[in-house]
Amino acid sequence: GNESTVSITVVGASGDLAKKKIFPALFALYYEGCLPKHFTVFGYARSKMTDAELRNMVSKTLTCRIDKRENCSDKMDEFLKRCFYHSGQYDSEENFTELDKKLREHEAGRISNRLFYLSIPPNIFIDVVKCASTSASSANGWTRVIVEKPFGRDSESSAALTRGLKQYLVEDQIFRIDHYLGKELVENLSVLRFSNLVFEPLWSRQYIRNVQLIFSEDFGTEGRGGYFDSYGIIRDIMQNHLLQILALFAMETPVSLDAEDIRNEKVKVLRSMKPLLLENVVVGQYKSHTKGGITYPAYIDDKTVPKDSLTPTFAAAALFIDNARWDGVPFLMKAGKALHTKRAEIRVQFRHVPGNLYKRSFGTDIDRATNELVIRVQPDEAIYLKINNKVPGLGMRLDRSKLNLHYAARYSKEIPDAYERLLLDAIEGERRLFIRSDELDAAWELFTPLLKELEEKKIAPELYPYGSRGPVGAHYLAAKYNVRWGDLSAEHYPD
Ligand code: NAP
Repeated sequence: GNESTVSITVVGASGDLAKKKIFPALFALYYEGCLPKHFTVFGYARSKMTDAELRNMVSKTLTCRIDKRENCSDKMDEFLKRCFYHSGQYDSEENFTELDKKLREHEAGRISNRLFYLSIPPNIFIDVVKCASTSASSANGWTRVIVEKPFGRDSESSAALTRGLKQYLVEDQIFRIDHYLGKELVENLSVLRFSNLVFEPLWSRQYIRNVQLIFSEDFGTEGRGGYFDSYGIIRDIMQNHLLQILALFAMETPVSLDAEDIRNEKVKVLRSMKPLLLENVVVGQYKSHTKGGITYPAYIDDKTVPKDSLTPTFAAAALFIDNARWDGVPFLMKAGKALHTKRAEIRVQFRHVPGNLYKRSFGTDIDRATNELVIRVQPDEAIYLKINNKVPGLGMRLDRSKLNLHYAARYSKEIPDAYERLLLDAIEGERRLFIRSDELDAAWELFTPLLKELEEKKIAPELYPYGSRGPVGAHYLAAKYNVRWGDLSAEHYPD
């Protein structure tokens, strides 16, 4: 008949990402009834495994939603029955032809749609894409490929990767994942801004003093620094995740919500960025620190990292968008490992109230009296707005309060993992949250000269203790633009 079917092949199924994220996300989609009626999941890797062994491996990482435990184990069994495994080499057309044969059996004459998820190291992307497209692509439906970062390590290698992919695929078949774009609060950024009258009119240099994009992890590389060491935090977090958020945050109103309209606006922001100067960047690397009798390791204590590594595990940068809306507004980014806290957030600090009647009530530190909008992407998702408020009573005393939308309190439903959103979109052909090649080029164009300069000049990172707030240089960088990181009122009014 002309019914269609979707076959999802997880290439690199024996790996960490597949286990931790991809299979659990596919199960969650199945559980929620989001997958098409006819679907099959294939794991593909070199490791030898039977279907039963794959199912056993996958079953260990599937979880049930806390809000709906009913029939979960039945659903798991049903899902696992639709998972299969094929062992093969990544550069063998013959092995992919065998996979194709198995996929056809499952497709049983229906229209075949095929999604390949490349959960493998990037040096074998092209081999796999070649074999998949020549030997295992769909004959009568679509064939799509999901790729994960890193998309190269600079403009040249990224362009080479894109050229390699485009020997076998057209742009529309390539789904470049930036999993931050699948995060609930990042997706909500446009809703907040474009569907509430109170935000969009303020969204410019006229009212916004600075914007901060902050990512911090409270652990280091912990023995898994090998991959990280050749990339560093700027490539790992800033050039992709934080820059994507910046583009979404700062873009003009798109013509519509269509993928191309949104991506057109994002790429305009990226192409309007001023060159990123070394003087506007601080790099750091964590060093060993002993606290409460426990010694936390330095980055270079990681056995997979060279002892003389200059790779930054922390970076802060001030970026500027050279357009009418954002002229002169610093966009400050900060990303680091082994810091005192684990979070990702967007902070928008508004300008002072001109001729503020209540200036006196704030004392000398009028800076603290500005409004601040915080979008906490993770953990404990929230959106809150800091406002000035009169402390109830006969006197005139002001304090800072929060209008607080705390997701856990407002929405009882568990927030889906970013990979669920992105896998579903890839299956449905929704490209809004994936990176188009011109966006990727623009992102690399911004960061490549800086990365080259850091590496050529062998800029030594400023050392900061494991578990601290990062190098003090980040504080000076912000101060240069009259910005204070983080919570303006924290010292006076701790949460
Ligand atoms: P991984 O575990 O290192 O690799 C996945 C699979 O690829 C392995 O099980 C292995 O399967 C095969 N493989 C590994 N090294 C290989 C090599 N040198 N040559 C050929 N095959 C090799 O990687 P992962 O952590 O799952 O990540 C997959 C991809 O997603 C990577 O490109 C990574 O950069 C990206 N990524 C990962 C994460 C994460 O959280 N882990 C996050 C973002 C992006 P066989 O030996 O069985 O063939």
